[in-house]
Amino acid sequence: MEEMQMSCPNGHGEMSIQESEKEMTFRDVSIKIEVEQHVCPVCGIEASTVDQAVVIQKQISDAYRKAVHLLTGKEIIEGRKKLKLSQEALAKRMNVGIASVKRWESGMIQSKSMDHALRLALKGQTPGDNCTGNREFSISRIKLVLKQLESVLGKSILKKNDKMLFAAKYLWYADMVAHRELGESLTGSAYAALPYGPQLNNYRDLIDDIMKADESKAKSLSPEEKRIIHRIAMRFPKEQMVYDAAHKEPIWKKQPNGAIIPYSDSSELAEM
Ligand SMILES: [Zn+2]
Repeated sequence: MEEMQMSCPNGHGEMSIQESEKEMTFRDVSIKIEVEQHVCPVCGIEASTVDQAVVIQKQISDAYRKAVHLLTGKEIIEGRKKLKLSQEALAKRMNVGIASVKRWESGMIQSKSMDHALRLALKGQTPGDNCTGNREFSISRIKLVLKQLESVLGKSILKKNDKMLFAAKYLWYADMVAHRELGESLTGSAYAALPYGPQLNNYRDLIDDIMKADESKAKSLSPEEKRIIHRIAMRFPKEQMVYDAAHKEPIWKKQPNGAIIPYSDSSELAEM
């Protein structure tokens, strides 16, 4: 780390660099980190340079992730380098944006489902066709399918701040039924089993891109695909109906929290 001199704000002159172990509680978990800070030898006041503060933030995040059994930023970087993957290549393997990989490596805490996907990718496995339904992931196609659903439903289901609570469930049914009947999903999306139902994996990082996506760039929908979308919209004319149906699906119920729902289960859909 860059050594920077600091002066005591109480006027005692130059501070010295000291390492100490600190215990703290972060997100209800107690953690210990080795902190390098500046300390005044006279009054004992502690201060960090910007660089030191960045390191401390990373240490807190990594200590927390270690405690709750998530991959640490360090582990993600080491795993990625072992496979000689760039951040971009890892992102591609996981169907996420490069910004997500950068954030996890530099201290942002990943969700359980993304941790699962990271572990798979770092084992050299791609999420595979069973996670994407034999189709390449396409954000513009997500937008196209949502627009098509909206045109049959006669209302908007893609909303900025509802965490895709309903839109993701319509999409999930559309992708699953297409996989069951046509052998491939509509959008290539992976879905995680979350407490509030099947959810577009990593939706937090996708939502803005979906809002901005240009559906005219997507491969157009075949008549069969349009018929599936139509059936789903007719079956669930109200948002609450798609929500309730998804919560009855055994293929969602049987997955542990955060796990990817495999497309191979599409034949066991109960409500559609
Ligand atoms: Zn001082």
